[in-house]
Amino acid sequence: MSPTDHALPRVAVAVAGGSIGGLCAGIALRGYGADVDIYERHAGSVETRGAGIVVQDELTGLLRRHGAPPLPTTSCRVRRYLEPAGGNGSAQAMPQRFTSWEAIYRTLRATFPEAHYHTGAAIQGFETGGGAVRADVEGRGTVEADLLVVADGAQSETRRRLLPDVAPHYAGYVAWRGTLDEADAPTGLAASFDGAFTFSEARSGGHILAYLIPGANADVAPGRRRLNWVWYTHADDADLDRLLTDRDGRRHRSSLPQGGAAEGVVTALRDTARREVHPRLAELVAATPDPFIQTIVDVVVPRTVFGRACLLGDAAFVVRPHTAAAAAKAAGEATRLADALRRAPADVDAALASWQGGQLRAGRELTRYGVALGDRWAAARTAPNEQCDRTP
Ligand SMILES: Cc1cc2nc3c(=O)[nH]c(=O)nc-3n(C[C@H](O)[C@H](O)[C@H](O)COP(=O)(O)OP(=O)(O)OC[C@H]3O[C@@H](n4cnc5c(N)ncnc54)[C@H](O)[C@@H]3O)c2cc1C
Repeated sequence: MSPTDHALPRVAVAVAGGSIGGLCAGIALRGYGADVDIYERHAGSVETRGAGIVVQDELTGLLRRHGAPPLPTTSCRVRRYLEPAGGNGSAQAMPQRFTSWEAIYRTLRATFPEAHYHTGAAIQGFETGGGAVRADVEGRGTVEADLLVVADGAQSETRRRLLPDVAPHYAGYVAWRGTLDEADAPTGLAASFDGAFTFSEARSGGHILAYLIPGANADVAPGRRRLNWVWYTHADDADLDRLLTDRDGRRHRSSLPQGGAAEGVVTALRDTARREVHPRLAELVAATPDPFIQTIVDVVVPRTVFGRACLLGDAAFVVRPHTAAAAAKAAGEATRLADALRRAPADVDAALASWQGGQLRAGRELTRYGVALGDRWAAARTAPNEQCDRTP
């Protein structure tokens, strides 16, 4: 843990949400010298099989500054662009590193003290005034702090309560995602993706991409990694009703977890893959157990600071996955929050005001960038190598 670097009274911080955003905030603010407790709604571990995340500097910078263990990563040397008709396509040199949600989560958890990470502890509401915040925490009653960082995710209940007019804007397409253990892949399939960040357009629009990520327990040894893929495809409202209705007939709001998609929908996805994308990617989709789905939305907020409470990560802006920036955005916001407090250690309100200005500018900019990337492939079947240099 980084040493504290100021001698003023310690700021007490409560964090709502113990995923990437909440953990980054907890780690960065402890590094500043705050006393931080993280309250996570889930009672058990929130680890999942974890899909892929492109490694960005803001996250690795935070990890390095705060003495985190090395982040397990995989890497590629080239981008490969395949055509739906088959063949080896074209490649260009573009080294990049990848990780998984699970690998980031484990690394962050190992960096934040266990005794201050509370599970089964949803923040159920809060009030703020008089330079403090009082949060109602499940199973613990009222917790008082100088600052509440709300990192309760894209579906943030807190955002809904504080900003009832802010509604997620559906972008008109969804991301199908899947992971396949290298060991379970058909012979030769994993090798054909090793060392490359692979893209294929789909014949009727949209595109699919694949790369290798750490496997179970964040293992990066060849043979124990996972293949990770994402397929962006258009879906109108009627499609959404079908896609988001799970195998028990329940319509979900915006995503289905692994194992949730109805059998007929998954079969149709695999059939479509055979017609639409490069055979190697179709084979990957066919071999993947339990693909899952996320609708692509934009969430733009007009403010993020409410007295002594602030929104961070996906609870504030939700940006398109093409930016490859959601985890990095959360890390950057956390780092800048600690920096703002460092610059104005005697005035938490001034620190929050200056932090909010930068966060709103960066969030709007990233939203515009993500929308432009999404529009680019939605509008035309562009050559994939005309797409942005880090489009995931
Ligand atoms: C289980 C999981 C798996 C993910 N996998 C991927 C992935 O594979 N690829 C990818 O790109 N992104 C993934 N994400 C999203 C990614 O983590 C985020 O986009 C980004 O890192 C910013 O995260 P966040 O912490 O702001 O929000 P989230 O990651 O959504 O975390 C919000 C957290 O807040 C908790 N919470 C909600 N309400 C309350 C409350 N009232 N009180 C306390 N806690 C609350 C939730 O349980 C959750 O842990 C995943 C998120 C989760 C939770």
